[in-house]
Amino acid sequence: MASEYHSPTHVPVRPVRPASRVAGVGPTVFATITAEAVRTGAANLGQGFPDEDGPAEMLRRAAAEITGGNNQYGPGRGLPELRVAVADDRRRRLGHDVDPQDVLVTVGATEGIAAAVLGLVDRGREVVVLEPTYDAYSAAIGLAEAVARPVRLLLDGGRWHLDRERFTAAVADGPAAVILNSPHNPTGTVLGRADLEFIADTVRGTEVVVISDEVYERLAFDRPHTAFATLPGMASRTVTLSSAAKSFNVTGWKTGWAIAPPPLLDAVTAAKQFLSYVGVTPLQPAVAWALDNADDWSDAWGRTLRDRRDRLADVLRATGQDVLHSDGTYFLVSDIAPLGLGLSAAEFCRALPEAVGVAAIPVSSFVTGEDAGTGTLVRWTFCKDDATLDLAAQRLRSADWTRLQQIVH
Ligand code: PMP
Ligand code: GLN
Repeated sequence: MASEYHSPTHVPVRPVRPASRVAGVGPTVFATITAEAVRTGAANLGQGFPDEDGPAEMLRRAAAEITGGNNQYGPGRGLPELRVAVADDRRRRLGHDVDPQDVLVTVGATEGIAAAVLGLVDRGREVVVLEPTYDAYSAAIGLAEAVARPVRLLLDGGRWHLDRERFTAAVADGPAAVILNSPHNPTGTVLGRADLEFIADTVRGTEVVVISDEVYERLAFDRPHTAFATLPGMASRTVTLSSAAKSFNVTGWKTGWAIAPPPLLDAVTAAKQFLSYVGVTPLQPAVAWALDNADDWSDAWGRTLRDRRDRLADVLRATGQDVLHSDGTYFLVSDIAPLGLGLSAAEFCRALPEAVGVAAIPVSSFVTGEDAGTGTLVRWTFCKDDATLDLAAQRLRSADWTRLQQIVH
């Protein structure tokens, strides 16, 4: 017989509240600006994902893995062939001596960041981050109910470098961890050897863990990338994070890795296994192939990106903006102050898609607290194809800034 149950209609509807750790967390600035770019048909120089695919053979191998039936859960730490390929690649290119046992495959570097913070940082402890800082760090720190301790990068003569005094003071206060990111999003800075050695000297002899996000490791153009774990004494306290996303133009594959010796990696794995259980099985052999075989593709892509960076810098300069130096990544930063619009970068970027047909991200989105010096800085990505960059260039060169001001006001 059918159930006679009727839900009561007289019970008042009570609002469902989010947990305090996510209260007030809206869509990321990247998603918001991309949605606005799509709505307005703008050339999207905001969110950092390339228009072009990675190495064709890598794509073919991934497809063959899927149609060939490699579609079930793999081993917890990842397929051995990818863990071996990661270790070989780090040793060969960066002199980073990695045991494949010390590699954990993650669902993108984003999961690696969350698992490292959740696995290694207790509630209420401090985590030092370099500001401007990638949004996923503060988000992971928030989820862990820990406290971000920002240390500004200082801008001097168009280049960014570590504020050594503030960094020393932050470490002296006994944080649980420091999150580094070089090549650095959003500034495009590759931290120099002297700054990295200073960081190593400061944390040596403490209990601080270093979480080193190196997702742009293959995109260092003007300065060599140094793997932080290769500095003396650092391998035993560093969790290195990276990913196929930026190295091989597959941001949608969400296949990354964490590298650390046993006590650290065990803690990261303990958190990771309940975030996603394992990584995506059929993509791992394809990424392993790319790490072993796609250096030529990487070199060519690096040259293309460098050219595009220089072209975009010329266009921005021609509009009257100051352009800061970018050593690598997909990004460069400009200062809109010389345009004399009287607008913050946040206002400028909000109106830019509608007014000019181009999208970009305000650097203030990467800064907690007051903007201090970053209020008129804008991040532009140059990883888009030539057609998109040409369209953006043409629109920027003929921009009507008065219209932009009108939209803001
Ligand atoms: N770290 C930084 C600095 C990034 O810019 C990004 C964006 N790709 C990530 C981590 C996330 O990487 P993934 O897509 O592999 O999760
Ligand atoms: N890393 C990319 C960027 O900085 C975006 C990734 C994301 O949208 N979470 O543009």
